[in-house]
Amino acid sequence: MFENSPHSTLDHTLIQQLQQKTAMLWLNPYLGCALPNDAPSVHAIQAAQDRLQRSQALLQHLFPELAASQGQIESDLIALNQAEPALFTQPKLSKQAIYLKADHALPIAGSIKARGGFHEVIAIAEQIALEQQLITAEQDLLALSTASAKACFAEYTISVGSTGNLGLSIGIMAAALGFKAVVHMSVEAKEWKKQRLRDRGVEVVEHRGDYAAAVAGGRAEAATHPKCHFVDDEQSTLLFLGYAAAATHLAQQLQQQQRQIDREHPLIVYIPCGVGGAPGGICYGLKAIFGDAVHCFFAEPVASPCMLVQLAANTDQAVSVYDIGLDNKTEADGLAVGLASTLVSPLMRAQLSGVFTVEDPQLYQNLYQLKHLEQIEVEPSAAAALQGPVWLNHPAAQDYLNSHNIVIAQATHVIWSTGGCLVPQQEMQKFQRIGQEIYDRHKSKT
Ligand SMILES: *Cc1c(COP(=O)(O)O)cnc(C)c1O
Repeated sequence: MFENSPHSTLDHTLIQQLQQKTAMLWLNPYLGCALPNDAPSVHAIQAAQDRLQRSQALLQHLFPELAASQGQIESDLIALNQAEPALFTQPKLSKQAIYLKADHALPIAGSIKARGGFHEVIAIAEQIALEQQLITAEQDLLALSTASAKACFAEYTISVGSTGNLGLSIGIMAAALGFKAVVHMSVEAKEWKKQRLRDRGVEVVEHRGDYAAAVAGGRAEAATHPKCHFVDDEQSTLLFLGYAAAATHLAQQLQQQQRQIDREHPLIVYIPCGVGGAPGGICYGLKAIFGDAVHCFFAEPVASPCMLVQLAANTDQAVSVYDIGLDNKTEADGLAVGLASTLVSPLMRAQLSGVFTVEDPQLYQNLYQLKHLEQIEVEPSAAAALQGPVWLNHPAAQDYLNSHNIVIAQATHVIWSTGGCLVPQQEMQKFQRIGQEIYDRHKSKT
């Protein structure tokens, strides 16, 4: 058991607290330490952003529904508290600037995975086309949709292991470009996601066991095929950079909202965390722009706090939630990850402010309130970050605010909502019913 490991700084009190599975805030004591030497450069983030820009005409060609955005995959920044202070029960919060970054409505893939996933598939296609001399460097990527490019891609397989949303994003984009697409999923993955992929010509392989097993199965199979690229959610830099590219657009949106961001007027961002790629990439991109003026907090289910555990353990060895006796069972399927990304956790060690955990009933209650008050529908995973501003106004955060000289009333809060718009209506109604029940029960008690 992990408690006995000599490398561990995971103290007994923290382990016991996590084992109770009640919501808590953990502050990262390593925030501000040096990044590892091999950390991605600002230039690499810029290159990802350029690549996504060069692919706009291609995306518009492949997906006619992107005509309105001219092929840009982006989401709105929605002011929450102005519209409805009641979403946050504390009166203090209703006077603060709280926004929702609406990635639950990202086109085509319906989740934050559109950012990293599309970027990786497009980057692989670009690399193959360059090798085959179908295009030249820095060329507009509409050229990836020609008949000769498609014929070339048909000889390659792109595969991925996924709990669902990453599979949707990779599968849909790979198939659209003409690749053979294979998605390895765990048996418990949602049926509608499997069906949606099969409808697009994607092969779905089902694995017993959890997410890590699906990834391992996919990785092993891909390793035996030279013309197969495996998108590795636990280690992929291309995914990470696709997420990091989100930061520039958010900075523009904040400017349009006339939100000044500096050390005295900090940006505080709350993002649901699974393996860590999406929230880690976004945090990394935001740090590159705002530096010390941005503070990032991740939200993890009480049964799956893999990033919290890995960072708190402060070791190069992988430490999973199973190692401290948690079962990784949560309704937030996008966040049900037992082991954090080994690419991302060393970066977040230096940059992440902290992690708060969320109990499943709270997720449902939050998604119900968001729908009820703002007419916004999200999936359980995407509701995880909504508690963020509540935590930063909680006494548990006071030391953090003091030591960073933060006057919370001057902050801009951004809650990242990560998925939901493709969830079938029937499933969404089920989420809403559960949320309403919990909400009503809670109300009748207070
Ligand atoms: C994947 C996912 C996340 C978390 O992203 P990771 O890269 O796994 O940390 C959060 N919300 C939703 C809806 C997701 O699909």
